[in-house]
Amino acid sequence: MFSLHGNGVGTGIAIGRARIIRRPGQDIPQYTIALSQIDEEIARLERALFRTKVALQEIKSQLSDDAVDEIGAFLEAHLLMVDDPMLSEEPKNIIRNQMINAEGALNQHAVKLAKLFDDIDDPYLSSKFADVSQVISRIQGELLDFQGDLTSQPVGTFDGEIIVTNDLTPADTIELKKHRINAFVTSLGGPISHTAILARSMKIPAIVGLHGEIRYLRTGDLLIIDGMRGVVLVNPDAQALAAYEKRREKILSRVRELEELRSAEAVTLDGTKVTLLANIELPEEIGESLAQNAAGVGLYRTEFLCMNRRRPPDEEEQFEIYRHVLKQVNRSVTIRTFDLGADKQVDGGRASDTLIINPALGLRAIRLCLHDLALFKPQLRAIYRASSFGPLKMMIPMLSSIEELDQLFILIEEVKQELDHQGYAYNANLPIGGMVEVPAAAIAADLFARKLDFLSIGTNDLIQYTLAIDRIDDEVNYLYDPLHPSILRLIKMTIAAAKRANIPVSMCGEMAGDARYTRILLAMGLTEFSMDPAVLLEVKRQVRLSDVKQDRAQIDQFLESPRPERIKQMVSELNRVPE
Ligand code: PEP
Ligand code: MG
Repeated sequence: MFSLHGNGVGTGIAIGRARIIRRPGQDIPQYTIALSQIDEEIARLERALFRTKVALQEIKSQLSDDAVDEIGAFLEAHLLMVDDPMLSEEPKNIIRNQMINAEGALNQHAVKLAKLFDDIDDPYLSSKFADVSQVISRIQGELLDFQGDLTSQPVGTFDGEIIVTNDLTPADTIELKKHRINAFVTSLGGPISHTAILARSMKIPAIVGLHGEIRYLRTGDLLIIDGMRGVVLVNPDAQALAAYEKRREKILSRVRELEELRSAEAVTLDGTKVTLLANIELPEEIGESLAQNAAGVGLYRTEFLCMNRRRPPDEEEQFEIYRHVLKQVNRSVTIRTFDLGADKQVDGGRASDTLIINPALGLRAIRLCLHDLALFKPQLRAIYRASSFGPLKMMIPMLSSIEELDQLFILIEEVKQELDHQGYAYNANLPIGGMVEVPAAAIAADLFARKLDFLSIGTNDLIQYTLAIDRIDDEVNYLYDPLHPSILRLIKMTIAAAKRANIPVSMCGEMAGDARYTRILLAMGLTEFSMDPAVLLEVKRQVRLSDVKQDRAQIDQFLESPRPERIKQMVSELNRVPE
């Protein structure tokens, strides 16, 4: 038994078997094996060599007649290489002598061969290493437990397992929602990455940002995942298992306790009424929001409709989906227009081959939509058409200048005229809100508030842009701090601007769903919170323990304090429940 440490996210404790998922280009694992495992490891390498040969022969047999000459010779050369003892024998010696796994041995040999080829003076011969390297990658692919695309896996493939992988893209997260996995562990990812948001929404624990330690995990290992403490226990002994089973039971009983709050009112001790809404990424999540008795959907991330498919859904498909969501929820639904770009791409980014250095600062969200009307206009039309079927609102992500709103309003006028002309019904007064996720929007929130029907604070991006920390770069996520004085001030400014303009303001970033921050946000005047339904009851519990009038008196002290540590301390004092 041993333990590994990363960032714990999601809820509770999971116990299950590991399933390693590797992607091409990922680090090759190397680990020590026991003397008794050497023969099996060599046999494993031989099986991988055999499977590589079969795969190459199969490709060769499928070649069309006119391709046989050119590509056939190339494949023939690769087949000869697989058979060549130069490639297959030395890794076996490494397995025997160094007592390491087949992947590690093959990798060591590849490094040696690369150097040999590099030393050859003849450029033609030296360039032949590219072929050797391709063959080695194929063999590695056969050796590794699972390679490739999650999208191609039948539903249920990973049921009950703990997924261990380098990283998960937002597109992967959509796929994983189709399986009933127990937990997941990734080497990359921070607490506000979409990987972490996925864990929360699946109500499972996860450990992200495990870095190189992930190489110690193997398919079939029994793991305990403690999402609260960020610990992975590998092949635990009976005593540890029993202790964690007990803790898991305790957590479950707390969840059951929380469930009693489902029908309770979200109101503070001093009578402030609070609206708790749900964030959804897929229409399938509506059931969960209804189960938690959310007052509606405060953020529907529609860009997830575009993932794992070659093209975004057209107007008709979107219209049907939005209408269906509205009908199912049967309460207010805030549709956020496509927040595509950066880490969220159509087809999960697989279709794009352009390298953008700073995608989060690039053509993203409303910028991309205004730039690509073929993408945006069908969505606007679909939203307006759906608006005649219930209490729908539209929300614009990543606003940074008033000109974007001016352009948007011109476009909306155009859409309305078209719909009038075509005889479609719609709500001419559809509320249009803006997300405050860029410091520019928070600082000038009063100007935006004059033109909009509501504001919603997206703290995930607001923190990323204000503190200059890439939300998906786990190397800087230690700087992620919702209680940073600058963040608190921007939130306060936004709330004040909305109040002055007499429009509603909500928060839909992860901060809104973290019960540690509920009281300070209430004290700052926020009364509308949108979050993952999985955490709604926890936040409701905190709302019911809060006294806004009393807490408000302390808020200036918080905002004046230059030290995040002191602010944290004050927030935990605020949260302390009297005995
Ligand atoms: C946010 O940035 O806080 C937000 C809610 O949007 P997303 O997490 O989808 O970027
Ligand atoms: Mg955002």
